[in-house]
Amino acid sequence: MNDDVLHELAMLRELGYTHLDLVGGRQSAVGSGTEASAEASDDSSLDALRLETHNCTACRLAGTRTNVVFGVGSPTADLMFIGEAPGQDEDLKGEPFVGRAGQLLTDIIKAMKLTRDDVYIANVIKCRPPGNRNPEPDELDQCRPFLKRQVALIQPKVIVTLGRFGLQSLTEKGYSISAVRGTWLNYEGIKLMPTYHPAYLLRNPAAKKDVWADMKKVMAELGIPATA
Ligand code: URA
Repeated sequence: MNDDVLHELAMLRELGYTHLDLVGGRQSAVGSGTEASAEASDDSSLDALRLETHNCTACRLAGTRTNVVFGVGSPTADLMFIGEAPGQDEDLKGEPFVGRAGQLLTDIIKAMKLTRDDVYIANVIKCRPPGNRNPEPDELDQCRPFLKRQVALIQPKVIVTLGRFGLQSLTEKGYSISAVRGTWLNYEGIKLMPTYHPAYLLRNPAAKKDVWADMKKVMAELGIPATA
């Protein structure tokens, strides 16, 4: 067994798998998100939006942030992940999902046969709430237009919301995560898959199987073959 296979098996074990169903054959890496549609954004328009967020002082979080955490990944990604808000690691680095929960998200993306560069990763809130408290309603309201414009520029085929805030703030609906997790929703013509937040999975590892089931639906939608 080569190192790549061993690495992938280790990731799947990290995601809660104890065995693999190999019927269906070998996986391949597809769905890299490099096929831009005619109306998809270019870097410069996303960069202009990034600059706007960097100058934003619309809410109190501007006064306590180290960095604005705008988003990372391919500006023409087919798949976009939307989390909650930056934590301390993200605030210091200016990049979403780089702490412990971020490592788990990276493992999930790798298990989907993709990389962080293939997808786009953002949060509903671009600045860290002090002490990692939940975002306040007015902070969500101030930041939502940035996220909506980000989605409109990237035009992903599929959005995965991670946790309650990503789901509720983007859709502006009071969905319960436990009621809709794993079911396809529609956000302005884009398929939206709500799933659990990686930080929740760190506290409840048994739920990793649910997230993996959700990600398999996403992979199928994007034409990525799954083995497990
Ligand atoms: N949790 C989030 O929702 N976003 C991050 O960027 C990091 C942790």
